[in-house]
Amino acid sequence: MTAKLTILRDDITKLSVDAIVNAANSSLLGGGGVDGAIHRAAGNQLLAECRKLNGCETGQAKMTDGYDLPAAKVIHTVGPIWQGGNGNEANLLASCYRNSIALADKHQLKTIAFPAISCGVYGYPIDQACQIAVSTVATEVAKIDTIRKVIFCAFDDKVYQQFLDALQQTQAH
Ligand code: ADP
Repeated sequence: MTAKLTILRDDITKLSVDAIVNAANSSLLGGGGVDGAIHRAAGNQLLAECRKLNGCETGQAKMTDGYDLPAAKVIHTVGPIWQGGNGNEANLLASCYRNSIALADKHQLKTIAFPAISCGVYGYPIDQACQIAVSTVATEVAKIDTIRKVIFCAFDDKVYQQFLDALQQTQAH
């Protein structure tokens, strides 16, 4: 059976899932937006573990514990900064989702929640980013059995609506 894809309008730091994904920057040492919220909610032990990871390249993903979060694990991935669309941004963004799913699968995680990677300060057009998010995840989870549920977690109405549109389009195909 294929994993269920769902969309929530929520604060990702509140979700009790096996892993939440962090839209981190390449230092993995915290930042603003969802990254800051995750570090605040997880506590200082998260930063201590992140310091040992030596950063992360754009499109790649690394995993830590969740510490004080309700989520057991955090998968840190680094989205591309939008540069107009000719800088390989679409492939790099798809890689974030692919590599995060691969890491979750490798660790036998069953439930995973994503924020809208690159849709904040990194400036990716939200409609395009949500399309890539949903279509990439749908393709990946169809190949694996372990993951039961993927949540796309929107923090605002615009992202929520774009995730919904993207899911409808993906399911229509
Ligand atoms: P990036 O640098 O990858 O653009 P941001 O954190 O600036 O990352 O934004 C990514 C998305 O995460 C944005 O849509 C933003 O509204 C959203 N976001 C911010 N805080 C949270 C949160 N607590 N839970 C879920 N999503 C959040």
